[in-house]
Amino acid sequence: MTPCFQPLRRIPVPMQVAVNKKLEELLRRDIIEAKKRPATWVSPLVIAKKINGNIPDVLSRLSTLPSKPFDETEELLVNEIAMNAAIAVALKWQDFKNASHGDKQINDVFDALETGCADQLPLVYRSSFSEFCRVDDVLLRGDRIVVPEKLQYQVVQIAHEGHPGNRIMKAHLRTHVWWSKMDNQVENFVKACRGCTLVSAPNPPEPLVRKELPTQPWQQIAIDFLGPLPEGESLLVIIDYYSRYPEVIEVNSITTTSTIKKLLTVFSRYGVPEMLRADNGSQFNSDEFERFCTEYGINLERTIPYWSQMNGEVERQNRSILKRLRIAQELGKDWRISVHGRKKQQKKFDVDR
Ligand SMILES: [Zn+2]
Repeated sequence: MTPCFQPLRRIPVPMQVAVNKKLEELLRRDIIEAKKRPATWVSPLVIAKKINGNIPDVLSRLSTLPSKPFDETEELLVNEIAMNAAIAVALKWQDFKNASHGDKQINDVFDALETGCADQLPLVYRSSFSEFCRVDDVLLRGDRIVVPEKLQYQVVQIAHEGHPGNRIMKAHLRTHVWWSKMDNQVENFVKACRGCTLVSAPNPPEPLVRKELPTQPWQQIAIDFLGPLPEGESLLVIIDYYSRYPEVIEVNSITTTSTIKKLLTVFSRYGVPEMLRADNGSQFNSDEFERFCTEYGINLERTIPYWSQMNGEVERQNRSILKRLRIAQELGKDWRISVHGRKKQQKKFDVDR
């Protein structure tokens, strides 16, 4: 025979004490045996109350003790469990009572519980009918409160306080409350939460545009300022993306006008580049600088183009120039020698394009 594992069925709260007592009794009388380890054969207890309110003795033929009726302590325990469930979802017992009163579905279940006939109920109630019970005008499924439709949204809303995700919300709610479309409602609520959407799916950053590497020297260059140096001067650093050749020019003024003048001097020697990248410095963001670029047909880029290897090298080069400058300064040496001493290591630079 194939081992069988059937899912759990919750025991209605009003019956829990009685069921446990009955099990203890059956154990004591050696009628049933406790299993201490997980077993491959698991079948749920399906408890149905007798008309007189007693738990039917499934093995009554073997029993010699009479079943006991509910007592008041059990009634109190039921109320306590149910009310704790209400507190756990931050609502009052009275709220559940009021809302249940006007809930068609819940009233249908109440009727079915009275007649003992669940045929007219939706499948979700019919399939586990024995788990439902009525306590003080509130419907319970096992030890969980069945939330009337009117309160469902509110319960989800409260459970989402602090923006927990689906999984945590469901786990919390499932231990205290139940209704048939609970999982769906929780998922939809989280999906629609603006705060959660912002955090979980941030706007993707602007994609880096992968560019073709320049095919010749001085086609694409980057410019930047370093400094000011201790004596007050700044360095205008121009780096050619193709050769990685750095042109370093000492400047006393970093205004747009003087920067343009310096660039023109360099362009007169090497030619006008097709693209110029300048992503910081107010002198590059001015209208005057833009006009200058337009006039000379230079494509001014303020975003960092993505050349898989090259960009990193240019960045490294900039850092290396800065480092050389700092060392020269520390040692009291002339930065011009330090920076330009590197020239012979550069790729051969073709001046006559
Ligand atoms: Zn949220």
